Amino acid sequence: MEDDFNKSPKPKGKWTFLALSILSLAVLVTFSLFFWYLVSPRINAMSPLLSLGLKIAGLLFLVTVSGGLFLIVLSSALEKDFLFPHGEKQVTLKVLFPINLFLGRLFGLSKDQVRESFVQVNNSLFKATEKRIKNDRLMILLPHCLQNFDCPHRIVGNYNNCKRCGGCLIGDILKLKDKYDIEISIATGGTLARKVIVEKKPTVIVAVACERDLCSGIQDAYPIPVYGILNERPFGPCINTRVNLKRLDQAVQYILDGDRDAKGYNHQRL
Ligand code: SF4
Repeated sequence: MEDDFNKSPKPKGKWTFLALSILSLAVLVTFSLFFWYLVSPRINAMSPLLSLGLKIAGLLFLVTVSGGLFLIVLSSALEKDFLFPHGEKQVTLKVLFPINLFLGRLFGLSKDQVRESFVQVNNSLFKATEKRIKNDRLMILLPHCLQNFDCPHRIVGNYNNCKRCGGCLIGDILKLKDKYDIEISIATGGTLARKVIVEKKPTVIVAVACERDLCSGIQDAYPIPVYGILNERPFGPCINTRVNLKRLDQAVQYILDGDRDAKGYNHQRL
């Protein structure tokens, strides 16, 4: 059976965000140059030294963002690690992300479509940097809305309260947890998710969430690498959501794979 986890995401998916990023960079450079053209005579008249300092700072900023984007595109496209280990890509993404959302809207893309594409870029970078990822403390981070809305058991903070009745996917995900002996956390929102990450100190996270929460979660969790899986929302947002269990299982296997191979397990991917 073909391993659909390791297939590259549909090119259209990640390339939407990458193409928007390239366009955003062009917009940023154009606006920066235009702004400098307008203000430089006055600054130069005030202090030539200040003018030179600002010119150098602006140039360094643009070189950092452009260089970061070049490496992101290269690493994401080839799924090979060309990134620096000290998070230069974060600067690029932080700067370009809001411009991408704005430009996406001009091209008729919703915020969620741009965010979904970002998650695919993130996952391709995750694969590109897999050799750097420590898999000894893997945590699955789940949104509370996966739980059946009518379930009377409180599972946030203590998933052992789940009776595994089959009323929602939480029981199946707990079986996955038992199977791989990994950490799991269920959070009601970004604040709790951040608190859980600080307390449990995972080295790598597989996160399930909607586009918005995944995007902010991936950026908030940095430098901990996050593999993102979008939830499914057959009943609308935030209620009785679902996740593709096979994909979740494959993501966990993929991350643990190195460990199991090292221990000589006859490990087979789905
Ligand atoms: S599996 Fe059953 S007990 Fe567990 S959270 Fe879902 S509905 Fe509640």
